[in-house]
Amino acid sequence: MLTIAVSKGRIYEEALPFLEEAGITPTDDPEKSRKLILSTTRDDVQLVIIRATDVPTFVEYGAADMGIAGKDILLEHGAESLYEPLDLGIAKCRLMTAAHKDAPVPKSRLRVATKYVKIAQRYYANLGIQAEIIKLYGSMELAPLVGLADCIVDLVDTGNTLRANNLEPRELIMNISSRLVVNKAAMKMKNQAIAALLEQFELTLAKR
Ligand code: AMP
Repeated sequence: MLTIAVSKGRIYEEALPFLEEAGITPTDDPEKSRKLILSTTRDDVQLVIIRATDVPTFVEYGAADMGIAGKDILLEHGAESLYEPLDLGIAKCRLMTAAHKDAPVPKSRLRVATKYVKIAQRYYANLGIQAEIIKLYGSMELAPLVGLADCIVDLVDTGNTLRANNLEPRELIMNISSRLVVNKAAMKMKNQAIAALLEQFELTLAKR
């Protein structure tokens, strides 16, 4: 049995059609069912549905053989212990800084609210900007509006969330897409099964 970890929400919505094209269709809808383990139309493949930030952890410990996770999550987690063989080109967005549209952002002693603490620290350190990073778990957009931070680091897709809160995107930190990650031990122990599935995924990607 091969177990693939996928997160609910945006990534699942885009991963599902991809998996279906590759011949893997879940037999339950995770948005409706409360099941956390979904069997699929392939007897030898099951999906586990977990939080996006937990995908690297499940794959690292071998609780899932493979996972689908955003590059943002992988970089923040520090996923050196995982293979990352495929860029699936799904759930594309940009990791950006954003600030109030009329407010100048200070050049030093910046306060930045984000859930991407490590990425933000690295980004400002590389620029030589002294920044205090404030960890938040959600609603980052609120921070500049109530004086908690000068700017935020967050994912931007259409920009609607920023606009609705009088914020604007400033600097692009990196382009993001979802990647397929594989547990290193599983890659050796279940080599044939995983290699076959990877080949199937590559073919599916090539047809897109
Ligand atoms: P948007 O309003 O379209 O710019 O989307 C921004 C909101 O959606 C932010 O709260 C982001 O954290 C979230 N978001 C955008 N793209 C993604 C993605 N590919 N994966 C996860 N969250 C995303």
